[in-house]
Amino acid sequence: MRLFWLVGSLALALLIGVLSLQVPTPAGLEAPATAFSTDRAMADVRELAQRPHPVGSADHARVRMFLQQRMTALGLQTSIQTGPISRGSARYLRRMGGDPEAANFTATNLIGVLPGRNPALPAVALMAHYDTVPMSAGAADDSTGVAAILETVRALRARGPAERTLVVLFTDAEEIGLDGARIFWGGHPLRDRIGAVINLEARGGGGRAMMFETGRGAADTIALFSRAGVRADGGVTANSLAGFVYERMPNGTDFTIPKDRGVQGLNLAFIGRPEQYHAHSGADVLDRGSVQHIG
Ligand SMILES: [Zn+2]
Repeated sequence: MRLFWLVGSLALALLIGVLSLQVPTPAGLEAPATAFSTDRAMADVRELAQRPHPVGSADHARVRMFLQQRMTALGLQTSIQTGPISRGSARYLRRMGGDPEAANFTATNLIGVLPGRNPALPAVALMAHYDTVPMSAGAADDSTGVAAILETVRALRARGPAERTLVVLFTDAEEIGLDGARIFWGGHPLRDRIGAVINLEARGGGGRAMMFETGRGAADTIALFSRAGVRADGGVTANSLAGFVYERMPNGTDFTIPKDRGVQGLNLAFIGRPEQYHAHSGADVLDRGSVQHIG
């Protein structure tokens, strides 16, 4: 009998382990308008990730114009914000084969606002970066984040006006030194209206989206995230060890900037299929379940 319970609980543990590694089934074009659909998001990923679009490249301008049109068509009050990239970022871009002069040493953020019913409440920002490194079309990093945000805005609008104002922030120059995020959080007029920020990233082309970082003193944020996670496709993946390890690593994402300003929020990324990180691979080899999960 004891052996039965031992084998039974081991099998159950194995099943839970396997299930916790699975991505949810990607939703197709026929998904309800109020739901997040991978296939709808993938149309934008394919458009964005045709070719590399680092700061200063012709494709960077193409992607910027495409995104401005998409944001306006989704009903966002769209604006741009420009600012100087740092000397270090310009040097790094040049070392990678990019051309900071062509960008006039400038980063260009794209900002969209969807007003909420109660403008007195702090706004929620959804953030992802639209620039890539010179050697990658950026299908995963970070076209999936940008496209997931566009699809989210579409679904939210289909649900009717939300209580809080939503700010969409597509940052520039993340890959060369977080310049776009620094420019926005350094002085954009909307900055102080934002109570929480959700940043979407990718460090590979597959796997579940892990919530690996929060603002400091995040007990309330974690509680809210776990309540919301019950309704998320495939549940959520998060553990405090990841946050602890990440804190001690030298690399950062855009989320580092608002976090250091004391802004609350969540940082999510998928890290599976690491061979696709900053690689030439395009949208077709992405794990579509990862897009569904981060959405
Ligand atoms: Zn990235």
